Order: sequence, then structure tokens, then C-alpha cells
Amino acid sequence: NLSEKLDKALHTLRGHGQITEINVAETTKEVRRALLDADVNFKIAKEFTNRVKEKALGQDVLTTLQPGQLMVKIVKDELTQLMGGESEGINLSGTPSVILMSGLQGSGKTTFSGKLANYLKTKKTKKPLLVACDVYRPAAIDQLHVVGDQIGVEVYSDRENNDPVAIAKAGIDKAKAEGFNVVIIDTAGRLAVDEAMMTEISNIHSAIQPQETLFVVDSMTGQDAVNTAKAFNDVLNFDGVILTKLDGDTRGGAAISIKSVVDKPIKFIGTGEKMEAIDVFYPSRMADRILGMGDVVSLVERAQEQFDEEEARKIQKKIAKNKFGFDDFLSQIQQIKKMGNMKDLMGMIPGMGKALKGIDIDDDAFKHIEAIIHSMTPDERANPSKLNHSRKKRIAKGSGRQVQEVNQLLKQFDQMSKMMKMMQGGGGKKMMQMMGG
Ligand code: GDP
Ligand code: MG
Repeated sequence: NLSEKLDKALHTLRGHGQITEINVAETTKEVRRALLDADVNFKIAKEFTNRVKEKALGQDVLTTLQPGQLMVKIVKDELTQLMGGESEGINLSGTPSVILMSGLQGSGKTTFSGKLANYLKTKKTKKPLLVACDVYRPAAIDQLHVVGDQIGVEVYSDRENNDPVAIAKAGIDKAKAEGFNVVIIDTAGRLAVDEAMMTEISNIHSAIQPQETLFVVDSMTGQDAVNTAKAFNDVLNFDGVILTKLDGDTRGGAAISIKSVVDKPIKFIGTGEKMEAIDVFYPSRMADRILGMGDVVSLVERAQEQFDEEEARKIQKKIAKNKFGFDDFLSQIQQIKKMGNMKDLMGMIPGMGKALKGIDIDDDAFKHIEAIIHSMTPDERANPSKLNHSRKKRIAKGSGRQVQEVNQLLKQFDQMSKMMKMMQGGGGKKMMQMMGG
């Protein structure tokens, strides 16, 4: 998978204190291979890595203090740029604003039509109308009605009519007459690009002149997605791309290639079958996803502003000697509080986001934690294993918390110690180095 590959490619760099020109060349080669594996078009991958290399050498990566980080940042920035830079919304001007869906059969048009209607209704307080223009299968009309019922959005269909252009027009007329301010037109697709489908969608397009024409594409179709996007764009000159089925560990390669080939923004992503599984597309988040390394760059930036290097070294030594106790935990908390929300911060560490999902640490919790630790004797703080039930009860009483919370803290402390030990061992050592300089 691309994330792992890139991670591996960059790993070498992150570990090294020094980077040579050979090193840069090698890493960019790895990056290119990773992009190719993720179905990114060859030419795009090549151009991309060339740009990264140029930037890296131009910015004096070789002489900078932390070349690995700079390199990571360059790759991430370039990737973000490649996918469009900023996120772009959809055009909701027009009364009503008409949004036309296009794409192959099974790409997710009907599902996304529902998701978008739901999104506009709840987030933008719009009154959308869904229009069923897939006239070839009765089941397609039923499907849109099911979706509409689910989200409480009206659906216009006409089972007696088999002319999608006429249905689309009638739908818009209905919207005008009844005060719907957004019309979302779901259309039929076929399994592959063919003339009949292109003629039909093009006829609908020119008849209704939508404010927004969206091309919906299944991100699991890889390189094919690019060819399909090109075919539709040649005919429709669409306004934006919807990447569906980006749930699970779907490759992100399609996002990169499509943007590069048709030069149209990706506007939304679909991340599941449910109506809520819709997200605005953010290029920088997608870059993070593709790199699979969390927001390492900003973590480093923030950590370096605040983190006391001396402290870091001291703690590191203690962990190594298994001498990490509650006093250190307390001073860690103080450091972390300076940096902002802990969970946010830890979430930026590669692979840590998932690990933290079950653990709930918020700022308020810090107060309670500090109270509990302050109720421990110095000996107990240094040797948490001494905390038997009667000691825990005393501490709970002293801090005005429940025994249960004391237990919870001990558990968290245990988890944190383990995590820190882990960080000392494998990739985390580098984290510490980055934090401590
Ligand atoms: P259409 O033929 O273009 O209208 O495609 P549909 O909306 O009928 O979707 C085809 C299939 O893909 C259905 O089974 C959907 O539930 C599923 N689907 C659509 N979008 C997503 C998504 O974002 N994630 C997942 N996992 N499935 C999706
Ligand atoms: Mg459909």
C-alpha cells in the first residue's frame, strides 16, 4: 500500500541526521515507485518526483539541521498541490441550483445524490429535490425513493416517461413551482464508456444547463478511473469530481491522477454506504492519508516551539532505566498542556491515531489526574506498583475522586509507559530525537 511504501521510503531520511545527494535521489526513486504502485500515472509520478527532487536540492536540504523533516514536508506540500491545494465547494447559485450527476454504473451516483441532498439539507439548510433520470431499470427509481425516504428529501420520478431529458426538465419545473432551491439530478450510467451513454448525458446537460456538473467515480477502479474521467470531461467539461468508496484502505492514487489529467477539483469523497458517509475533500488531508504518516510536520513544529529539550532527555533516560514514575508523568502533563490538546497532538504521530481511539484524555481530565497524583506520597509516585487497594482508597479520598478514577489513571499511566517504551525502541526513538532535537 502506498502509505506504507512512502513511509518506508521516507523512513531512511527521517532516521538520518545527514542527507547526501545520493540519499535524496534514492528517496525520490522510492517515492516514485510507491506512486506507481498506487496506480498513479507514470508521467505524473515522474514529474512529481522530479519536482520534489528539485525543491529538495534547491532548499538546501543537505545542509539543514533536520533534513528528514524538510524532505517530508516537501513531499507532503507537493502532493497537496498536486491534488488541488485548497478545497473547493460546489456552486449553489441559481434558483434553483441544478446539480447533475454523471458517471459509470455502480460508481455511486444514486448513493451520492442522497448523501449530497442530506448534506445540503443539514449543513447548508437548503431544500433539495432529487430527480430520478435513470429510466432503464425500475429498480433504479425505487432505489432513489428509498434513499429519499431515509433522509426525508422528496424525490421526483415519472415511471410512465422514458425520456431522461423531459424528466429532468419536469423536475426543475416542479422545484421552481414548489420552492425547492437545489435540484439534484441522478442519471443512468453504463458499465463502460459508450456512445449511447455519452450522448444521453450530454443531451441532458445541454438541455438543463446545470450550475454544477459532477463526475462520480469509484476510487477502487484505479487507472481506469482516469480514462473514464477523461472521456466524461471531454463531453461534459464537468465542474468537479466525487471520489466514492474511499473507505477502508482504498488506494489514493486515483485522486492524484484524475486531478492531474482533467485538471478539475475533487470536491467530495464518499467513505461508506450510509448517508452520513460524505466528506468535503481536503487536498492536504488526502496527502496525509496517502503518506499515512499523520501530520508529522506540524507536530514537529509545535513540539519544537514548546518542548523543553533538557526535560526530554531526562525522561528518555528514565524510561530506559525503567524509572519513569508519576512525578515524571506529572511533568509530562505540564509539558503537554503547554502544547495543546494531548489527543490531537498524539494523533499526529504516525500510527498513533488509531491506538488512541479508545483512550479518552481531555484537558479537563488533566485537573483530576493532577489532583490524584498530588495525593500520592513521593514513594508511591516513584513506585506505582506499590499502590494496593487501601492506598488507592486513601488517595481517592485525599483527591476527592473515585477509586475507579484512580484505577483508570493507573491504567493510563501503564499504557503511556508502555507507549513510551515502544517509542524508545522502534520508530519512536526518532520521534524523541525530533522532539528533543
Ligand atoms: P450508481 O449506479 O452510480 O447509481 O451507484 P450506486 O449509488 O447504486 O452505488 C453502487 C454500490 O456502491 C451500492 O452498493 C452502494 O451502496 C455502494 N457505494 C456507493 N458509495 C459508496 C461508498 O462511498 N463506500 C462504499 N463502501 N460503498 C458505496
Ligand atoms: Mg444509480
